[in-house]
Amino acid sequence: MSDIDTVLVLNAGSSSLKYQLVQPDSGFVVAHGVVERIGESQGRVDLIRGDEVNEFVGEIVDHEAGLSKVFELFSGVGHDLESEGITAVGHRVVHGGPQFYRPTVVDDALIDAIKDLETLAPLHNPVNLLGIEATRRLLPDVPSVVVFDTAYFHGLPEHVATYAIDRELAREHHIRRYGFHGTSHQYVSTRTAEFLDADLEDLNQIVLHLGNGASASAIAGGRPVETSMGLTPLEGLVMGTRSGDIDPGVVMYLRRAAGLDVDEIDVVLNRQSGLKGLCGENDFRSLIEMVSGGDPDATLAYNVYIHRLRKYVGAYMVTLGRTDTIVFTAGVGENNAKVRADALAGLENFGIVVDAVRNATRSREPRIISTDDSAVTVLVVPTNEELAIARQSVEALS
Ligand code: ADP
Repeated sequence: MSDIDTVLVLNAGSSSLKYQLVQPDSGFVVAHGVVERIGESQGRVDLIRGDEVNEFVGEIVDHEAGLSKVFELFSGVGHDLESEGITAVGHRVVHGGPQFYRPTVVDDALIDAIKDLETLAPLHNPVNLLGIEATRRLLPDVPSVVVFDTAYFHGLPEHVATYAIDRELAREHHIRRYGFHGTSHQYVSTRTAEFLDADLEDLNQIVLHLGNGASASAIAGGRPVETSMGLTPLEGLVMGTRSGDIDPGVVMYLRRAAGLDVDEIDVVLNRQSGLKGLCGENDFRSLIEMVSGGDPDATLAYNVYIHRLRKYVGAYMVTLGRTDTIVFTAGVGENNAKVRADALAGLENFGIVVDAVRNATRSREPRIISTDDSAVTVLVVPTNEELAIARQSVEALS
């Protein structure tokens, strides 16, 4: 057994399981990979360990079978998991509801409580639980910790978290703005302060997490004061397959005019909207190719996406009063220079000047992409939710 902490971090989706074995102190990634197409006859598991890549292709009946395959791949390359000395398993769970806002050690009561939150997050929490239950059976002696995606935003100011709806109904059903991607917003804002050699407490930041899911946050002196997602991850920016903000009247109208029931509307807004709904494509790389090729639907989708993003930047600048940094992160934010340029174009009067050469430079490291005389420092800071979950898991157990 090694005496260095190693944490297995799991992010379970409905048909996939992303995992990473990481040393929380150094951030060293021992191994990582993904189990894909769980429940289908042609599933796939990979294990990437340094330069070695090992793969299994075949049927994966459920999450537990997928995780067993990962363990088999480990022993196949002569590294059974025992010898890696896993000290904890860290799980991402999307919705913590009103009661969970700290990393929490898994026991039967927590599992029951997460099940009770199912109505708040029907698309996410039940599949996150599959990962927890699989590790409890396969690694019964290793403690598991849950890190909730909503936790960081628990302390949003009351007037920000409150929807202007009937207060009794809201109270009875715990309807408020919870916010999501919290682990990422917290990690990236903290990392930005470290990178700039500044105190987190001294910085007013806007963080734009642009992945397949997308969210913005305003963070004043290390404290989140606004975020774009709400009761569910559906509110806010235009996303890969989610609409983001719409008039809630659309929901009633779809019920009455299109005859869709609630579950069907849920699917439309979460899985068939956003970029995919507008042009049939939710992957940003393909979308950009379509835009370059002159596809009118893709062009409109791109313009709707950028317009929404700019609206949020403007709103958050006013919320903060003074903005020190605007930080791009996640798949699109880290890799797509055009989105960054278009999101902040023409804002010189607001003290925001992106440097074209810096913006076009590719790197996996945090970097400044604004000019030296830009009053607002614009950065790209890669997120690392796995490392943040690993660190919080070890902390919760100590
Ligand atoms: P999530 O974790 O929400 O699934 P990611 O943060 O991995 O999403 O982001 C996925 C998005 O990032 C996709 O739209 C993908 O096209 C985009 N993306 C990833 N890599 C690149 C790249 N090199 N250039 C442009 N877009 C990229």
